[in-house]
Amino acid sequence: MQNENVLRSTDSYRWENVPVLNYKPEGNTFEAITRQVLFDGHPELSCQFRYFEIDAGGHSTLERHQHVHLVMIIRGRGRALLGQDIVNLKELDVVTIPPHTWHQFRATEGEPFGFLCLVNTERDRPILPSQEELMLLRSDPAVGDFIRV
Ligand code: MN
Repeated sequence: MQNENVLRSTDSYRWENVPVLNYKPEGNTFEAITRQVLFDGHPELSCQFRYFEIDAGGHSTLERHQHVHLVMIIRGRGRALLGQDIVNLKELDVVTIPPHTWHQFRATEGEPFGFLCLVNTERDRPILPSQEELMLLRSDPAVGDFIRV
């Protein structure tokens, strides 16, 4: 049955009539990552539900912002910077990224790393680290080795 409220998955982490967008915010290195918007808000549920996929070796932007992310890994394994911590992530792990928390996802395991990400429709723009903030982040050697800018 066709139903306007059902969004069918097609092959391999794609959905019917959902364009696969290359995700490249202005002025940043957001490497080898695609975005698909699975839900784009409703008067009674003002959020966006997206699927991001990072190719093997790629990474998301190192950023922080007021708005919160709720993330669920649904493809592969990878790692993320979450505040001061570097965490290993795998399918079905759920991650909350609180306000103003530095975060970056990397597909470190030689395979695509895909995750669902829920955000408010109304949200602030991401902030990139200043040189001073980068120095502070790098004062932890493990974080310094991990981050990509
Ligand atoms: Mn973010």
